[in-house]
Amino acid sequence: MTRTVPVGGVEVGGDRFLLVAGPCAIESHDQLLTIAREVGRRGASAIRGGVFKMRTDPRSFQGLGPAALPSVDQVRAETGLPFIAEITSPEQIETFAGHVDVLQVGSRNMHNTALLKELGRARTPILLKRGLAARLDEWLLAAEYIVAGGNEAIILCERGIRTFETETRNTLDLAGAVWARQRSPFPVLVDPSHATGQPDLVAPMCLAAAAAGLDGVMVEVHHESFRALSDGFQALTLEKFSALVASLGPLLETLGRRL
Ligand code: PEP
Ligand code: MN
Repeated sequence: MTRTVPVGGVEVGGDRFLLVAGPCAIESHDQLLTIAREVGRRGASAIRGGVFKMRTDPRSFQGLGPAALPSVDQVRAETGLPFIAEITSPEQIETFAGHVDVLQVGSRNMHNTALLKELGRARTPILLKRGLAARLDEWLLAAEYIVAGGNEAIILCERGIRTFETETRNTLDLAGAVWARQRSPFPVLVDPSHATGQPDLVAPMCLAAAAAGLDGVMVEVHHESFRALSDGFQALTLEKFSALVASLGPLLETLGRRL
């Protein structure tokens, strides 16, 4: 039995299929507001946007940090949609308090037990991404660290794993996502943007996640992806995001669910 996790007005894991959309990173007030307003108007059920970015290259854009929070506040007030942002260290629980509805543990931090323990003491829902080389049992054990602290509001997110394949950025383990939903009490999302790294693979994998009975998807969207400061190559354009919403609707209806 999947436990539902309330996020804003949505019970994640219930009838609604969560469609999280937004930029990889918050780059400026105007960039976030433009994208959030557009995806909200086109059917997103929650907004994402990185405040602290964990980049492979230390010379890459690391995120605006707390300077991004007034823009997050405005997006929540204007759209009424919940906001999801990644937390990269325990002291940021306080930084994010009152600004963010869901704290995301990124793939690179799934094994960070100090962070997981602190999030167990938090009273905010957690989106726990699977580590890029984590086995399924390790992913569920990471969730247990959070539960052990008293926080059971956990949403799992499969974001692709490293395999020998190099044509896609990662390999989407859809069977693993379904396994996690069957073996754990937590709702499960899929992030096809990081799993595939290719905008044209995002919509098919979203449809597959819906057909497989998973609880939602998280997709990266940018209105000017050619100038994005991170992950622009995999971002959906606003037009592609609209096409995704249009194709998800009828499928969800046949499955007795809705956006
Ligand atoms: C993200 O969603 O912003 C992100 C960095 O993803 P991941 O941790 O899965 O690489
Ligand atoms: Mn990204």
